[in-house]
Amino acid sequence: MKRMDYEKIISHIHNVRYGGLPTHYPSLVSWEENIDPQKANYTWKKFFNSDSREPFSIYINIPFCKSKCKFCYIDVLSSKEVPEEYCSLLEKEMEIYKNLGAKRKKVDSVYIGGGTPNLLTSMQLKRLLKSLNSNFDLSSCRQIIMEANPGMFDRDKIEIAASFGVNAITMGIQSFDEDVSAENNRTQNIDDFFFILDLLKHKNIRINLDLLIGLTKNPQIFRKDIKFLLKAKPDQIHLYRLRPLNESFTGEQKDLLIKLQNKFFQFLLKDGYRRIDEDSCSFSGESINIQGSPDYHVYSTILGLGINAMGHVFNKMRYRNANSISQYRKKISSGFIPVHSGIFITEEQEIRHYCIIGLSNGKVSMMDMSKKFSNKAIRKILIELEKMHKKDIIAKAKTGYCIKGDTDFFNIFLSLYEKKYLTKIANKYGYWK
Ligand code: SF4
Repeated sequence: MKRMDYEKIISHIHNVRYGGLPTHYPSLVSWEENIDPQKANYTWKKFFNSDSREPFSIYINIPFCKSKCKFCYIDVLSSKEVPEEYCSLLEKEMEIYKNLGAKRKKVDSVYIGGGTPNLLTSMQLKRLLKSLNSNFDLSSCRQIIMEANPGMFDRDKIEIAASFGVNAITMGIQSFDEDVSAENNRTQNIDDFFFILDLLKHKNIRINLDLLIGLTKNPQIFRKDIKFLLKAKPDQIHLYRLRPLNESFTGEQKDLLIKLQNKFFQFLLKDGYRRIDEDSCSFSGESINIQGSPDYHVYSTILGLGINAMGHVFNKMRYRNANSISQYRKKISSGFIPVHSGIFITEEQEIRHYCIIGLSNGKVSMMDMSKKFSNKAIRKILIELEKMHKKDIIAKAKTGYCIKGDTDFFNIFLSLYEKKYLTKIANKYGYWK
């Protein structure tokens, strides 16, 4: 296979939504459809019943929105409400995990995402959080974070969320301008925005606001968004750039968005915010989303609930749930967890992922590795890292391995990605015949 072929495959993996290079290893484009639900059940059962004190986190997907925004690339279902049936199915799914022994392990954090989770009525939200508490051990849970639309909150929902321990809310605003929202098919009412914000702050709920750069070129709207943000003073701001759905941006358009994004950040940094990554800043300099950190999505066990939810049992399995209500209903009624696609993995694959992510960020540390992996897995990967060092792909440091000034990341991926998966993806997508 030529370098060009590999480049195509790697760039394909990199661009898979929620499955790009940093997210899953092996990439979700190489997962199997219809993985064995019995084996998936058994994998969770073994995890829950193991003696280790390793905690896990939970992701709950509420994939419904009143309308689908034009720029949205997530699989959401347009609906005025969350069907009662979906809430019942979620409860049943939680019970399946409880019966597998979920309460034997402590939950470290919960993320309720979507879609629009606060499209749930007060009663539904209460039911969901109650069920969560009765099926899992939340006694040491550090965070329950929930995505929300400010126009769909009220005092009642906030009271309920706070009383069940929700301590962070992330709200997708995208733009404070109502015309821009309407042009993008967004159902958004920000009349009560500051009132809602006060209610949340009063309950000590930390707030992240998402704004989308590139929805408008109008400088007046740009100024208005900045003004509103500075007035709102949320704990964290996520300023992400518009990514086109069907056509790609030219380099020039992309550069323009980066410039605009940086300008936005200049105002925020002057106001006391600290940049935490390419797209976000916060007052504390830390991310309020525990699950967003690589320590979570790379190294920890995450239980996914609901349609399309992703899950990961560290060293054992990655999976995605059923992708439609009918499939989800059918799978739940079988008594097994409703997995659809996935892959059973080994520690060797986890450590490859660790090295891919680590080197993408500059280094892999031996000390860190020894906290997460067995000596056997480390010995094996060290042989490969040493080979990469000898080929001058990476450098050796006192504490591990690191990139060099002229490191070609393509060579890192190519050295660490198992060829069997690259071949599988190449065959699947017809990169060579
Ligand atoms: S509200 Fe969020 S999840 Fe729903 S369609 Fe709009 S961008 Fe997508």
